[in-house]
Amino acid sequence: MESDGHPVAGVDYPQTYQQLQRWFPDDAACLEYLARLRWSAGFVCPACAGGESWRTRQGLWMCRACGRKTSVTAGTIFHRTRTPLSTWFAAIWFVTSQKNGVSALGLQRVLGFGSYETAWAWMHKLRRAMVRPDRDLLTGTVEVDETFVGGRASGLAGASSDKVPVMVAVERVSSRKLGRVRLALAAAPNTLELVEFAQATIAPGSTVRTDGARMMRRLADMGYTHEYGNGYAAEDPTTVLPGVHLIASLLKRWLICTLHYGVDDAQLRYYLDEYTFRFNRRTARSRGLLFYRLLQQAVKTDPQPLATLVRPVYQADCT
Ligand SMILES: [Zn+2]
Repeated sequence: MESDGHPVAGVDYPQTYQQLQRWFPDDAACLEYLARLRWSAGFVCPACAGGESWRTRQGLWMCRACGRKTSVTAGTIFHRTRTPLSTWFAAIWFVTSQKNGVSALGLQRVLGFGSYETAWAWMHKLRRAMVRPDRDLLTGTVEVDETFVGGRASGLAGASSDKVPVMVAVERVSSRKLGRVRLALAAAPNTLELVEFAQATIAPGSTVRTDGARMMRRLADMGYTHEYGNGYAAEDPTTVLPGVHLIASLLKRWLICTLHYGVDDAQLRYYLDEYTFRFNRRTARSRGLLFYRLLQQAVKTDPQPLATLVRPVYQADCT
């Protein structure tokens, strides 16, 4: 599977929902697939590093050398799930095959879940698998700035409805084309955090475009070529960093209308992850590739017991 880094539709991942159902009729088929994703270079025993194993009747991998039994779902978001894995696979297909994503209510409907809370918890588990921990740095010409999103009272003490500063970095591939994006919450607007964010997300040697705020000018001493328009003096500030401006407006529209009318501030960073996952794969030739990528990341993501998630927020569904 994916020996050259380019998974193939119909070979490494299903192309259609019908194919998905044929490939994954039961847990055994799902476990086999997860094992290929998790142990892409072959099974490795976590106890003795042995590579030889056989499958037990409970669907575990037993090490031939030391007898240790390993579950392919242990330590992943599927850890101890009581739902058939084929239902998880269907959920992931549904979530990745819709260009703009789905609401918990939509997931509840399509999977026939009895409770909204279950669908909500699933969405959040999947969202936490949407950002690759080892993702690459942005390169080339990159626009960096802040925008503000939110503005809804959450009803929690102390969590007022102030807008939240979100830092945006986006690759400018050409005058008409954007590349990849990175998003992060800022603790406060207009601080050095934005410089740190640029440093954490952009490869040295890149060209960074900003609005020319004084603090951003230190990027020139950090291994970047710093370009800036005069954002403060410009008649229309959106012309200075058009890429950031476009991302900001797309993000706000997505948050407000498509699915997350009631995003809680505490959950916002995970919604930013979902938006990033979708935006950076917007040109994928096959939606099945997103299914593959999300599953690949899901088996490398720590389990997310419901207790660690914040309580459900009922969301308007305007799709
Ligand atoms: Zn072993």
